[in-house]
Amino acid sequence: MKPKIYVTRKLNEGILAKLEETCEVTLWEEENLPVPREVLEREIREADGLFCLLTEQIDAALLEKAPRLKIIANLAVGYNHIDIEAATAKGIMVTNTPGVLTETTADLTFALLMATARRLVESSDYLRRGAWVTWSPMLLTGQDVYGSTLGIIGLGRIGEAVARRAKAFDMKVYYHNRTRKPEAEEQLGLEYCDMATLLRESDFVCILVPYTPGTRHLIGHNELALMKQSAILINTSRGGIIDETALYYALAEGKIWAAGLDVFEQEPVPANHPLLTLPNVVTLPHIGSASIKTRLRMADIAADNLLKGLAGLTPPNLVNPQVDARDTKR
Ligand code: NAP
Repeated sequence: MKPKIYVTRKLNEGILAKLEETCEVTLWEEENLPVPREVLEREIREADGLFCLLTEQIDAALLEKAPRLKIIANLAVGYNHIDIEAATAKGIMVTNTPGVLTETTADLTFALLMATARRLVESSDYLRRGAWVTWSPMLLTGQDVYGSTLGIIGLGRIGEAVARRAKAFDMKVYYHNRTRKPEAEEQLGLEYCDMATLLRESDFVCILVPYTPGTRHLIGHNELALMKQSAILINTSRGGIIDETALYYALAEGKIWAAGLDVFEQEPVPANHPLLTLPNVVTLPHIGSASIKTRLRMADIAADNLLKGLAGLTPPNLVNPQVDARDTKR
């Protein structure tokens, strides 16, 4: 009998065909709507494997309803929406898609940094609504990127890729991690510092730590108060790392200059969210890894993880190696 897998969103035909070679696949067919919780709860009862996105909350209560489940293949590098402890306790493997999206997400992070610094969205809106009457010396002036100072909080794969881009812009780069990275310091000329120094000294602060209970609201009122009035905050990691209320007031009151946000505490972000009312915020709908090539490769990697796990092999991107694939072999 073929193992049964549930896929929570419409996938590229080629990747679907690959899954169907060895598995019985049930798919949530809607492309632009997440699978309702009750459907997921029903489908997971019979599933040996789950192919999911970051839009699904894979919590302990859901896993209780999944007696056959052996593997959860997540189509993202971040897995804060999955209760890893509960999955591990039940002997369920969890996989992610690290690496493949690093450069694409670093591109987006840098694009957001530049768009925010030079007010690209605001300027485009200005022109489109017919407000452009004449060239003026200080019209829509922004902040320089070239030669400025960047602080990266969370110098992992994506953080390092952003640092490489910053070096091409002759930026001085500070970083803060829990552990130092002497190799990156030497190769890229980065400077390690504590978070307070990084916040005080940087013209741009990029958040690239994973979202965990320990990083929730890592940036709040006190941290924003340390930043320069001319500084720009960029978040392409996860929304919950920033206290959005504190950020709103810091931006509205001119305590910091601007913010570029790809991610929000609640996604999709409600249209009446206070941060969307501010002209000095550039907002994006969580598109960090959204290049065609990268999204297809991510889906392919997630499918490989799933198939390997179901075949009783250790998947390449196992997040909880405490679970031994051989034990979960049917
Ligand atoms: P990674 O390689 O694991 O890097 C994360 C870095 O954060 C590590 O170097 C880690 O170093 C550091 N870190 C962890 N906790 C920290 C803390 N409390 N304080 C300071 N530093 C801390 O992950 P990645 O591949 O670069 O991805 C980073 C995050 O980006 C993901 O978790 C995901 O949420 C997000 N992401 C978003 C998008 C998007 O579409 N916007 C796309 C891809 C990824 P230490 O352990 O030494 O502290």
